[in-house]
Order: sequence, then structure tokens, then C-alpha cells
Amino acid sequence: MLVAFDVDDTLAKFNIPLLNVYNAIDGTNYTSRDIKSYNLEMLWGCTKEEAIQRIQYFYKTHEFGRIVPVEGSQEAVEKLSKENQLIVITSRLSSVSRKTEEWLDKYFSGKFSDIYYTSEWHSANGGSGKKADICRDKKVDIIIDDCLEYILACQNVGTRGILFDLNGEYGWNKTEEEIKRVLNWEEVLKKIKK
Ligand SMILES: [Mg+2]
Repeated sequence: MLVAFDVDDTLAKFNIPLLNVYNAIDGTNYTSRDIKSYNLEMLWGCTKEEAIQRIQYFYKTHEFGRIVPVEGSQEAVEKLSKENQLIVITSRLSSVSRKTEEWLDKYFSGKFSDIYYTSEWHSANGGSGKKADICRDKKVDIIIDDCLEYILACQNVGTRGILFDLNGEYGWNKTEEEIKRVLNWEEVLKKIKK
């Protein structure tokens, strides 16, 4: 099978260091549960453009350089790599591709045959379905992502979506949609086997 992985908050613990940086700047005390939307401007009370600038600034911080893998992700990718082709589809900007590839090399060396950058989050219009386009064009069998909107879009083009919600703490992917969440990487492996 061809299995696609999101990076931020699926393979990489992204939101906690991001919140740490801006909690310090803003004097706030937000946690993952406080992020109720993928649109971070709603948390920060700023414009989309300012939220994009904040993410781009975060890419330059030491905290971004010290991001660690989500617990269990390395073992799960190792297991899945034995019988499947694995790729990465991230909504990060391609301007951060070097740092992204260095990070993937450090923690998931040689496991991914391709890395696609959609810049999707950074578009002023929000998600534009680019992850779903890649899933359709490459005939991706399964995608694992923490973003409900991306999962639903990918399912619409025939890719099986697994919504990742670490320990049920991801406040941004909770809606009334009838979609089952997986709470850790062991559950991802069990779900793929079914
Ligand atoms: Mg993500």
C-alpha cells in the first residue's frame, strides 16, 4: 500500500513548542486543548496574515529546531515501512523544506520515498484541497493526519483517512462529524491492519 503521513502533530510534536513561544510573548497560558480550530488566528485574536507571519517566525526559533517526534511514531513508521511505500504530505511551506528534510532524516531516516509541500495552511483562503489532489494523483491508499478537513477531503477522492488525535488532546479536530479518531500510534497500526 501507499501510505501518506502528515508531519506537524502527526509525526512531529509541533503545537506545544509553538504555544510555548507565543504564550511567552503574549503572556497567555494556552494548551493543545485550547486550539479549537486549525485557524490559529482564532486562538490568537489576530488576522490570518498575522497568524501566517507568526508561524513563519516560529520556523526561525530554537524551539522549532528542537521539535521531537510524537511518541510511538518512529516505531510505527519502522513497522509500516517493511510492507508499504511511505510518503510525507505536509502543509508546511517549501521554504522550510531543508529544515523539514533534516528533521525527517534525523528521526525517520530513509523511510519516506517522497515529500510533498502543499503550503495549504498558509494560503489566505484556508485549505484548498491540495493534500486531496496529491492523494488522488498518486493513488494514496491511506493518509494519517490530525486535520479533520484534510481527512474528509482526502476521503472524498477515495483515500482512506485516519484522523490522529494524540491522547484526545487535539482541540482543533473535534466536531460533530462522524469520524473515528485514533489516540496514539499503536491504534494507527491496529486500524491499518483491519
Ligand atoms: Mg498536522
